[in-house]
Amino acid sequence: MTQQHLPALVIGNWKMNGSLTANTALLESLRRDIASFGHVNVSVCPPFPYLAHSVALLAKSPISCTAQNLCHEAVGAYTGEVSASMLADVGCRYVLAGHSERRGLFGDSSERVAAKARQALNAGLTPIVCVGETLAQREIGLTEATLAAQLLPTLAGLSIADLEKVVLAYEPVWAIGTGHVATAQQITSVLRYLRQLVADTTGADKVARAMPVLYGGSVNPTSAVWLAQLPEVSGVLVGGAALKAEDFSEICRSFGQR
Ligand code: PEP
Repeated sequence: MTQQHLPALVIGNWKMNGSLTANTALLESLRRDIASFGHVNVSVCPPFPYLAHSVALLAKSPISCTAQNLCHEAVGAYTGEVSASMLADVGCRYVLAGHSERRGLFGDSSERVAAKARQALNAGLTPIVCVGETLAQREIGLTEATLAAQLLPTLAGLSIADLEKVVLAYEPVWAIGTGHVATAQQITSVLRYLRQLVADTTGADKVARAMPVLYGGSVNPTSAVWLAQLPEVSGVLVGGAALKAEDFSEICRSFGQR
């Protein structure tokens, strides 16, 4: 299944890092560099308290904001949670659902991730649904089964029209924050599998072909050069390197000029 050509999407996941001062410096640097990026869609994921501030700093810039998480319910007595409509209200465009740190450290089940994706779509946000296997699962041949188990509950709750607004991110857990980038062959094989899974499950071949699928896991300016050349890769979800303005700009340029 060949992917349709779309502008690449580069997302910088800041995780639980940053401050008003550090975020301002980082975003001002990205704003200065943006003219050199080329044809690429760039978004950053500040922690919740900084979202409105970052949206304001990025006003009139093509760089958008992505939230790192959201509540699986729409409104009500969910102390400590943040709803999709609040994220839309402060100007977010995308929201991550099912990042491996949420699944692994905070118990987000695949059903909960599906509910989060639903809430995002209801509020007009684009969910970036993250999936990925652990090293142990890969080593015993369970990569595809793991990814299917993670993604099928989300697919079950979506119409074809919903699917057109979803982004997937393949982030092998063993590649996140470890310095070990998956190989071109591993990435290509998984991304083809994910698009085929979407097509087989929903019957929507054209939508599956067009669906943006990102790679994430220790992406840096060096690996971005070859990742940007992989036709299956629609963009990248960047963690550590997204906190270094020059590195993140370099990654954006690799994808913007491919
Ligand atoms: C991530 O947090 O989604 C991620 C890919 O992190 P890193 O780039 O640091 O591996």
